[in-house]
Amino acid sequence: MTEPLHVAIVGSGPAGFYTADALLRSEEPRVEVDVIDRLPTPWGLVRLGVAPDHENIKAVSRAFEKTAARPGFRFFGNVEVGSTVSHDELAAAFDAVVYTVGAQTDRRLGIPGEDLPGSWPATAFVAWYNGHPDFQDLDFDLDTERVVVVGNGNVAIDCARMLALPAEELAPTDTTEEAAAAIASSPIREIVMLGRRGPAQAAFTPPELKELGELAGAEPVVDAADLRLDPASAAELEADRDRARRNYELLQEYAARPSEGKPRRIVLRFLVSPLALVGDGKVEAVEVVHNELVDDGGRIVARPTGETELIPAGLVLRSVGYRGVALPGVPFDETGTIPNTAGRVAGADRVYAAGWIKRGPSGVIGTNKKDAAETVECLLEDARAGALVAPAPRDLAELLDEKGADFVDYEGWQAIDAAERAAGELHGRPRVKLHRWQALLETGRRIPR
Ligand SMILES: Cc1cc2nc3c(=O)[nH]c(=O)nc-3n(C[C@H](O)[C@H](O)[C@H](O)COP(=O)(O)OP(=O)(O)OC[C@H]3O[C@@H](n4cnc5c(N)ncnc54)[C@H](O)[C@@H]3O)c2cc1C
Repeated sequence: MTEPLHVAIVGSGPAGFYTADALLRSEEPRVEVDVIDRLPTPWGLVRLGVAPDHENIKAVSRAFEKTAARPGFRFFGNVEVGSTVSHDELAAAFDAVVYTVGAQTDRRLGIPGEDLPGSWPATAFVAWYNGHPDFQDLDFDLDTERVVVVGNGNVAIDCARMLALPAEELAPTDTTEEAAAAIASSPIREIVMLGRRGPAQAAFTPPELKELGELAGAEPVVDAADLRLDPASAAELEADRDRARRNYELLQEYAARPSEGKPRRIVLRFLVSPLALVGDGKVEAVEVVHNELVDDGGRIVARPTGETELIPAGLVLRSVGYRGVALPGVPFDETGTIPNTAGRVAGADRVYAAGWIKRGPSGVIGTNKKDAAETVECLLEDARAGALVAPAPRDLAELLDEKGADFVDYEGWQAIDAAERAAGELHGRPRVKLHRWQALLETGRRIPR
């Protein structure tokens, strides 16, 4: 039997695990994979992005556990490519390297006041309530009656909904205790979501919008005047059988709904863009401009009308997209992705990409499966053509030991997982996350290697 191909996969989110799974299923060549993550815990945004009250979606990790149980799989947590180990070291040691590092930062609004205290990227807020160990010392001040969420996608909805959950809806989730307590005890009365374009162009999807109408402690508020359609949007809706049409129907239903007097309101605004965040030393209001929609070569775009409005708010969450970050020694392009063709990285032999860093930050968890399959197909084709041979093969565990880099292996992660689940069981929660580096590393290293 021929020697197996050794592949390093950098990033253990959905794209990393779908890539690992597809590679481990290959019979010719046989493949062994080392999945590397800078965090001591796997699953990427499934653990640290997907909202804690969406436990059924987080359950996709059970499929990833099956992948991890396949022969030839190893996990190396607490290993950051670019600092613990370099791209060149990996490229020398492995027959191929696949980058599945996701999109690690946020896009900016580029408006005055964006950096005032009280203005946060949604990326940070999401990471905070989900227990990401890099984001636990952030001081989210929820002592305000109104929050503005800039953006009209599912992440914006997640943020708005999380802020609207009362203690009883937060209790059965794996939201960190600090975040749950801060949200439940906050005086927030209103969460305003700002959409640049109209209701027909909103990026959120119907199930997420529908959920806003089913919350125990909050109700959605839509102004019927905001739902008036220009002819181009009306035509767009007419042609749409799916997302936009269903969204529009739900928004109409919300606009017609009498208030139930719930403690918090989620106000969905359309055709408004933030011009500036204003305040004396901290955010006190968002200045917005009203937009109109115009046809720009077949695409409906928002154009400011000049009419402005000030929305008082003590907290602003900017949810206008995630963005990939460049890794030293790995090609990167200004759109925030690794340039590639079907997963083969441009200008770098034996290097591949999958997931958000390959195609940009959009698509649901499942989208990454097809995306990873495409990359793996290219990789295996190159392997069969004899193009994938490590110049200086090395075992990653040995390389890391030599560097004095202490990694968390899969058994270490299982120890973290077991500790979290056991703590959760005591409180009727799926898990109580370890969310401090020290606790994660101490627990993850409990099993001697
Ligand atoms: C807030 C939010 C909520 C979402 N909710 C849903 C949902 O409900 N349903 C759904 O289907 N989809 C949801 N998605 C989309 C889904 O999470 C993504 O499609 C998916 O996670 C992208 O997978 P990925 O593997 O490319 O990136 P990620 O999941 O981000 O994984 C990347 C991994 O790479 C690691 N990494 C980064 N840099 C390095 C480095 N230098 N060295 C080593 N490791 C590194 C990171 O630690 C991370 O573990 C949501 C996304 C967000 C942001």
